[in-house]
Amino acid sequence: MVLTLVNTFPVLTTQQMIVDSKRGDILKTTNIVANSLSSLKSLDIEQVNSVMEILDVYDGTRLIVSNTDGLVIYDNNQQSSTVGKYMLFSEGYRALMGYDVFRCEYSKGAFISTAAVPIVYSSQALGIVYMYEYDAEQAQLLLNMQFYLRTTSIVVSFIAVTIALAFSLLLRRRVARLITAMGRIREGEYSYRAEVGGRDELSTLAVEFNDLTDRLQKTEDGRRQFVSNASHELKTPLASIKLLADSVVQNENMSIEEVQEFLGDISQEITRLTRITERLLLLTRSDVKVQTSLTRVDMSYIVDRASYMLEPMAEHLDIDVRCELSDGCIVLAEEDGIYQAVFNLMENALKYNVKGGSVVVYTYIKDDKVYCIVDDTGIGMPHGELEKVFERFYRVDKARSRETGGTGLGLSIVKTTVEQFGGTVWAENRHPCGSRFTIAFPIFSGETEGEVET
Ligand code: ADP
Repeated sequence: MVLTLVNTFPVLTTQQMIVDSKRGDILKTTNIVANSLSSLKSLDIEQVNSVMEILDVYDGTRLIVSNTDGLVIYDNNQQSSTVGKYMLFSEGYRALMGYDVFRCEYSKGAFISTAAVPIVYSSQALGIVYMYEYDAEQAQLLLNMQFYLRTTSIVVSFIAVTIALAFSLLLRRRVARLITAMGRIREGEYSYRAEVGGRDELSTLAVEFNDLTDRLQKTEDGRRQFVSNASHELKTPLASIKLLADSVVQNENMSIEEVQEFLGDISQEITRLTRITERLLLLTRSDVKVQTSLTRVDMSYIVDRASYMLEPMAEHLDIDVRCELSDGCIVLAEEDGIYQAVFNLMENALKYNVKGGSVVVYTYIKDDKVYCIVDDTGIGMPHGELEKVFERFYRVDKARSRETGGTGLGLSIVKTTVEQFGGTVWAENRHPCGSRFTIAFPIFSGETEGEVET
């Protein structure tokens, strides 16, 4: 549209300007001729000729003078002279009515102008001056201008279309990258990132989108971590309940007191299970900050309890479990959490042990710290793996771990829980075989209990 306008508007305006200038020039000339002739009072050929010779106004245009009847008195075209003939043009009639008539049209590459003005002597029309002009020169200028404009327009439109195509191709490619990223992430590939270069709105959109994906990935990771930790935490009390219940069912000669003791243990495990589920349910609510109440926890009691629960497993695997416990090993923590940590360490000591092996658990106080050490005579760990075993889902021997129902989560839960209550945990290899896991907590000698946010 712009190019059409650029092509037509200047041409039409120039054409109009030429016509206007011609009107001025031609009417001025015809009027000069008419005024000069009006002084003759009557028009006869000789007088008109002599006036026209003096005037010598025009060359290249046709000038005709006729009287009111249309009889031609003067014609500047010698070859096809119309002198003595009768000629009345439509312009002539209007000129006789006292008007200056002018007409100009642009056709076939030329401006064709005609004009007629009356010759008036004391309010009486003596005749008419006609003028006819055929101008191909200015028309050629107009044609040239039209040609240049058209050529420029074609070149400009070619460049514009090429640039537009290149830009749209580039834009489409970048948008396509963003769409691909969206598709991949919708399919669950949360690590995929949109790579859109540049510094415009599209690249800002890509950055925002990647930020959003980061968050999505974090939420998803958190969800997965939560689900796996939750199932791992629920597994321990459930396994204990099953073992205790199986012991009652399989032992027909149990006294009523023994049955009651076992049922009491089952009830305790169920209470723990309920507490864990309540905490997990609270954790699913993002609007709630979970407050864990810290209480005085006796490490030796925890070890004793865990070893009691693991007794059937140790018997089944033919492993001797021994506890060397000291008094006063009090720490400030959450009992269920510490129980879970110690239980995991002791369970591992059984799981990664050998038939006929042993597990020894110590609790003692040294330099204001409470230590809990779990030693085993099992398969041990390669030296380079001692730190890695605390990573989530890390398992040294996958086949063995799978066999024993391992998920690679137990030690990561131990580490998180211990550190949450201000303690530390590490692993060592023992000579000549087996491994040692140590938990160290600052000793708690005060009375005040507290809360931590999880
Ligand atoms: P899992 O559920 O596989 O037992 P953990 O996080 O408890 O997961 O342990 C991680 C890995 O550390 C285990 O797969 C095992 O290879 C190794 N490991 C843990 N405890 C011991 C141990 N007492 N002796 C030898 N290897 C162990």
